[in-house]
Amino acid sequence: MFCKITQSIIKAPQTLTFEKYFMINWNSIDSVFLDMDGTLLDLHFDNYFWLTHLPARYSSIKGLSQEKANDTLLQLIKKEEGTLNWYCLDFWTEKLGVDIRQLKEEIQHLIAFRPHVKTFLQSLKESDHRVVLMTNAHHKSLNLKLSITGLDHYVDEIVCSHDLKLPKENPLFWEKLQDIEPFTKERTLLIDDSLPVLKSARQYGIAHLYSILQPDSQKPPRDITEFPAIDQFDYQPRKT
Ligand SMILES: [Mg+2]
Repeated sequence: MFCKITQSIIKAPQTLTFEKYFMINWNSIDSVFLDMDGTLLDLHFDNYFWLTHLPARYSSIKGLSQEKANDTLLQLIKKEEGTLNWYCLDFWTEKLGVDIRQLKEEIQHLIAFRPHVKTFLQSLKESDHRVVLMTNAHHKSLNLKLSITGLDHYVDEIVCSHDLKLPKENPLFWEKLQDIEPFTKERTLLIDDSLPVLKSARQYGIAHLYSILQPDSQKPPRDITEFPAIDQFDYQPRKT
């Protein structure tokens, strides 16, 4: 079966972007690991929450100027980037003294699937692949998104990296994952918008790695050169 993906290349002296069809041989894949935010769901919700909604609400709750609230949050958030704390709602609720889950619910109408994802997941569900949602999202954030999207009905299993106490960015995550979700590296496909996560999976030896061209619908597509990047999920996965 064919998978429509888009890859960008840089060609001196001009930067050119073009679409190309790549092939995924679904017969050579048993496990399909899918990231949630920015891969199956629009990253706009998360970006809008952390960059716009939280700073505004933090400013009003704490009685700070908008500028002071922005600076404080930016410093704190940057310090935790790439760690589990960065994704942990309990950590931020305690650190900032505001109920992060409640603030997320205020903009939950922005939680949405990326284009064609539901059709893709339905096809995948009807195939005999093992489909696992593999997320760094905290349980509270995950549960909010599952309640809105029903994503859990499309996958065989959900793995939350908080349960393994390691983020996906750490290559040891994949080793620990084998204890609860055994998989063959050579026959596993991972689709994840995060390049650090893809690099960590590559280091571990996962063979089929794909990124996402436009994780946030409100931002332009990215130039991805290190991994093939999926544009739209408008194809049918099945073993022949
Ligand atoms: Mg992601």
